[in-house]
Amino acid sequence: MRAARLYGERDLRVERIESPEPGPGEALIRVHACGVCPSDLRSYLGIGGGYGREYPWTPGHEWSGVVEALGEGAEDQGLRVGDRVVADWRWVCGTCYQCRRGVFNYCENLRRGVRGGFAEYGIAPASQLRVIPPGVSFEEASFCEPLACVINAHSYTEIPLGGDVVIVGAGPIGLMHTQLARSRGGRVIVSDPIAARLEKARELGAHDVVDASAADPVERVRELTDDRGADTVIVAVGAPEPIRQGLEMAAINGWVNLFAGTYPRAELPLDPNLIHYRQLRVTGSHDFTPHHFTTAMRLIQFGIVRVEPLISHRFGLDSVREAFETTASRAGLKSVVLPADTKEE
Ligand SMILES: [Zn+2]
Ligand SMILES: [Zn+2]
Repeated sequence: MRAARLYGERDLRVERIESPEPGPGEALIRVHACGVCPSDLRSYLGIGGGYGREYPWTPGHEWSGVVEALGEGAEDQGLRVGDRVVADWRWVCGTCYQCRRGVFNYCENLRRGVRGGFAEYGIAPASQLRVIPPGVSFEEASFCEPLACVINAHSYTEIPLGGDVVIVGAGPIGLMHTQLARSRGGRVIVSDPIAARLEKARELGAHDVVDASAADPVERVRELTDDRGADTVIVAVGAPEPIRQGLEMAAINGWVNLFAGTYPRAELPLDPNLIHYRQLRVTGSHDFTPHHFTTAMRLIQFGIVRVEPLISHRFGLDSVREAFETTASRAGLKSVVLPADTKEE
C-alpha cells in the first residue's frame, strides 16, 4: 500500500510499504478521510508530537474508512466487513487509577493499537471503532477526534444561559467551540486577526466578531459587554499573548479555559491579582474520553456542530506534503486527505 512516512523535520514521503494484516480482535480499514491536526503539524515541523516514535512513522490520527477485513474474534464487537467506521486512537485500559475515577483522558496505560492515518489502510482494535451513522460522510466523521477535545473543554467550562462568551481564535477548533457555545445558550463573540475566519464565524453562529488585527480585543470585548467583560472565555490559540488577553477580558466570576498547548514552550508574565480579585475560574483541558468521542459523533449527526464548512482544502494521498504545508501557512481552515478517492499520481 501507499503510506505517508515522516523521516524528519518537513521530510514527509509517500512510499510503498507492506499492507498491514489484522490480528485477533482487529479490523483492517481502507482509509477514506484523514484530517491534518495541529499536533500532526507539530510533528511535521519538528516542534513536538512524535511521542518518542522512531523515524520513519506515519502521522495522522483523525481518520475514517471502510472495514475491509476482520481478524479472529473482531466480529464479536458487532462489526461487519463493509461497515463505515471511525477510529478512536485513545485506547484506554479501564483499570488504572485515572480510568477508574473516570479521567480516561489520563489513562496511565494508553495503548497505541490504532495505526493508520495518511495511508491507504489502517488497523484498529474492533473495540476502538464506531460505526458512522447514515448521512454522516467520511470527512465529517474524521472530525470526531478534534470535536471530542472541544467537548472535553466544555465539560470543564460553564456557559451561563445568555452569558457573554468569547472564543479567542477562529481556526477549525475555535469554530467548533463557537457552535457548541452557541448551542449551549451563550451569546458568542469570536476574536481572530483573519477576516475570512471571522466571516466563517458569523456564518456558523457568532453573534459578534472582533478583528484582533485592527483593535485591542480586550477593549472591544469590554465595549461589547457593557464594560463587564466576558462570563466565559475559551482561548483556542496556544501563545502567551492571546492567553493574557483571554484572562484580561474575563468578567468577575468568569471562566477562562486554556484549550490549546503552547509550542514552543513559553512563559507568561501575569499579575496574579487579575485572577484573585476578579474571582476567575481558570481551567485547562486536554484530549478526551471515550464518551466524548461518542458525543462528538452525535453532535455531527444531528447538525448541532457543523464540520463540513470547516474543510477548506482536500488532497490526494500523494499530495500529503501540500496538505501539511497548507496547514502550516494558515491558509484556509481544515485540510483533509482522501486516500481512497485518489489514484496514484
Ligand atoms: Zn487531532
Ligand atoms: Zn487506564
